[in-house]
Amino acid sequence: MSLKYNDAIAKRAMAMNERVRNYQENDLYYLNLPITEFLGGSKVLVGGREMGMYASYSYLGLIGHERINEAAIKAVEKYGTGTHGVRLLAGTLDLHEELEETIANFKHTEAAISYSSGYVTNLTVVSALVRKGDWVISDKLNHASIVDGCHMSGAKFTRFNHNDMDHLEVRLQQAGNAAKLVIADSVFSMDGDVIDLPKVSELCKKYNAWLMIDEAHSVGVLGETGTGIEEHFGMPYDTIDIKMGTMSKTIPSVGGYVAANKELINYFRHASRAYIFSAAVPPAQAAASNEAFKVILDEPWRIEKLRKNADQFINGIKALGFDTLQTETAVVPVICGADEVAYAMTREAHKRGFFVLPVVSPAVGEGLARLRATVTSAHESDDIAKAMAVIGDAGKKLGVI
Ligand SMILES: *Cc1c(COP(=O)(O)O)cnc(C)c1O
Repeated sequence: MSLKYNDAIAKRAMAMNERVRNYQENDLYYLNLPITEFLGGSKVLVGGREMGMYASYSYLGLIGHERINEAAIKAVEKYGTGTHGVRLLAGTLDLHEELEETIANFKHTEAAISYSSGYVTNLTVVSALVRKGDWVISDKLNHASIVDGCHMSGAKFTRFNHNDMDHLEVRLQQAGNAAKLVIADSVFSMDGDVIDLPKVSELCKKYNAWLMIDEAHSVGVLGETGTGIEEHFGMPYDTIDIKMGTMSKTIPSVGGYVAANKELINYFRHASRAYIFSAAVPPAQAAASNEAFKVILDEPWRIEKLRKNADQFINGIKALGFDTLQTETAVVPVICGADEVAYAMTREAHKRGFFVLPVVSPAVGEGLARLRATVTSAHESDDIAKAMAVIGDAGKKLGVI
């Protein structure tokens, strides 16, 4: 025991240290891997070794894109590397206003607001919208940042079974006359499936509930031009009241945003605590994000190629006999069963130069441990075929298929 006190805090820290040490000793430690260098396309150097990248959120392969890099470099040359503080106190640059206008155009809304991360965006926006006495109703598989925002808000926090519209309706009825906010991921980050937006939106209208959707994994992925889930379902661009997204996945930068109508955005500018008490997105990142939204619209071939690659991968993995749950997107769960099997599959894949990561309980249910593989538009068809062969061999060796 090397901690200062021997109380509950110390015990908690030591228990985690112990768990991590145990994983390391058994060669099962996959957090904090030394990814030293991105080599462009779909290749990475992991601990000095070149590997095929199948754990990337850069769905359209935009990291390192020339136009985006140039925009960031120009911003640094003009503004340096930081802002003077929070947006309301001298932290606002013309870059922020441009970025927010670009996002509003991209998402077909009147206005948009940006924050320094996606995580913070969910915390601050949910807790600005609902308070004690209100209800917030969240899909059971929603991202941790939404869950944390719901807890922080003080509202009555209830969950509905994953993508289960009958259960959502029960929750909406239970909420009675309280103000109601329904929240879901558009594409679920562990399963790759898509929320039933037509039904969710119908129920929200029926019960006068506001609808917020987290588009972290659908921008650049869903819809013919990559604008997201409304385009995917061919629904009007005012179907979702609060369109949240991150600039750290398809958009190769950092930051979060919400697009909505003018009144709501103006409300967030004056009532969301992260806007008031946390620094603005740095100049280089704001400029990179701004350019990236434009590149998505200018280079639709990337979206088409991503679609093709995802279809090839999902169909191929399924044909090998693996369960991939309900995925329709670039996030492909390859179900392994027990945690140990997912770890062993990962080790086999790494040995053969295929970089993928496992997800185990409690992040997913017992017995549903998996490789959480992603493909991007940077992969080529031959690479994907080779990757599938590696997964297939590992699955046979370990008795998964
Ligand atoms: C990654 C992610 C976030 C958080 O975004 P960051 O910009 O990384 O903080 C929020 N929601 C979902 C669904 C995500 O996958």
